[in-house]
Amino acid sequence: MNDFAGLELAQPILRAIADEGYTTPTPIQEKSIPPLLEGRDLLGVAQTGTGKTAAFAMPLLHRLAEDPGKPRYQQPRALILAPTRELAGQIDDSFKTYGRHLRIRSMVVFGGISIRPQIQALARGTHVLVATPGRLIDLMKQGHVRLDRVEFFILDEADRMLDMGFIRDVKKISAALPHRQSTGTGQIRLQTGLFSATMPQSVQALADGLLHDPVRVAVTPTATTVEKVEQRVLFVPKDKKRALLSKMLDDEEIKRVLIFTRTKHGADRVARHLLDNGIQSDAIHGNKAQNARQRALEGFRSGRIRALVATDIAARGIDVDGVTHVINFELPNEPESYVHRIGRTARAGTSGIAISFCDPDERAYLRDIEKTIRQRVPVIVDHPYHTAEAANDFGSAKQDPKRKKRSGQRRRNHRGSKRPAGMAA
Ligand code: AMP
Repeated sequence: MNDFAGLELAQPILRAIADEGYTTPTPIQEKSIPPLLEGRDLLGVAQTGTGKTAAFAMPLLHRLAEDPGKPRYQQPRALILAPTRELAGQIDDSFKTYGRHLRIRSMVVFGGISIRPQIQALARGTHVLVATPGRLIDLMKQGHVRLDRVEFFILDEADRMLDMGFIRDVKKISAALPHRQSTGTGQIRLQTGLFSATMPQSVQALADGLLHDPVRVAVTPTATTVEKVEQRVLFVPKDKKRALLSKMLDDEEIKRVLIFTRTKHGADRVARHLLDNGIQSDAIHGNKAQNARQRALEGFRSGRIRALVATDIAARGIDVDGVTHVINFELPNEPESYVHRIGRTARAGTSGIAISFCDPDERAYLRDIEKTIRQRVPVIVDHPYHTAEAANDFGSAKQDPKRKKRSGQRRRNHRGSKRPAGMAA
C-alpha cells in the first residue's frame, strides 16, 4: 500500500491529509488504521515521531463522522489520555488538523491553567476530549464531565504515564468508562487503543486489563530512528561548552535547534548565554509556568525562536517539524534519553543532525549510549574546540555509581582501533 487512498478513510479526512502534504502512510498508520476502522482494540508499540497520533486520530475521526450528531453536553464520545500537557495539546491539534473538513469538535484539558474555560467548553459539548489524567479526574469529581457515553478510548504513551505515577488515575478513569452501552442502533462495545514506546511488564499488565482481543502492532525499533540521524560527538571541557555552542550557532545551516541540558538551571543559563550573544532562544522545563512553556514552544514552532533549550522531561513528546539539529549540551545518563532526544530531529521521513558535547566526566555516558545504539558516534576532530585531552582523559571520569561495575569491565581504548567491549563490529 503506498498511499492513503487504499486505507478507506472518508474523503474529508483524505483532503486534510492532502492539505498537510502527506503522501504515504507511515508504517504505524498502515498497520493501525485498518483494524481501528474495523472496531478492533489495538496495542501499538511506537514512539513519537512515527506518526502514531495520526494512526489513531484518523480512524477515530472517520468512525465519529459516520454518525456525528451534535456534541453532547459534558459527554465526550472519544477520550484520549496523554501523560503531559504538551503531548495532550499536540494531540488536540492533530484532531483539529485531520478533522478540519468534518463537523467533529475536539478539545483538550490539562492542569496548570485555569479550569473555568475548560468547564465552559465541556458544557458546550465536544466529540473528542484529550486530557491529562489529573485534570480529568478533577473535572469528573466536580461533575463537569461524564464518561458514560465514551465509545473510543486511547491511552497514549502508556509507559511514560506509569513512569509519572499515573497508574491509579488511569485505573480510576478506565473504571468510569462504559464497557458496553446501548444506543439507538443497538449495543456498542468500548473500543480501546493503547500506545507505548516500550513494553515493560507493567505496561503489558495494564494492556491486559484494558484491551479486549487486541491487534498488536509494533514499529520502529529505536535503531531505525537513530539511523536516520547524522550523529557527531565533540570532546570539549565543561567550561568551554557555552563558548562552543554560541560559536557553533554562527552556522546558518543550524536553522532550528533543540538543545538539551541535564538540569533546569542549566537550561536557563544556556538560554541566557545565547540571548546575550544575539541568538533568539528560550528555555523550557518543569519550573516554568504552563503559559511560558507554551509561549516558548510556539515561538520555536513559528521560527521566532531559533534555539530552544530543554530538559528531558520538558521535551517529552515535543513535536515540532523541521528541527534541523539537536545539540546535547550535556549527555544524558540514561542512553534511552539520548535516543529520545535525537529523535526530535529526523521526524517522519526527514533527516537531521545531532551533535553531542562530551567532557571527560561524561565519557562513561557516551560509552553506554554507543552500546545501546550499537554504533560508534563519529568524533569531530577538526574543530577549534576539540580538545585532545578531553578525548583521551579517562582518569578523572566521574561515574554513575550504578554504572561503575559494568564500566570497570570495559576496555579503555575507546578511540583506538578496537571497539569497546560488548560493541558489535
Ligand atoms: P507523531 O509520531 O504522531 O508525533 O508524528 C510525528 C510527525 O509526523 C508529526 O509532525 C506529523 O505531522 C508527521 N506525520 C504524521 N503522519 C505523516 C505522514 N503520513 N507523512 C508525513 N508526515 C507525517
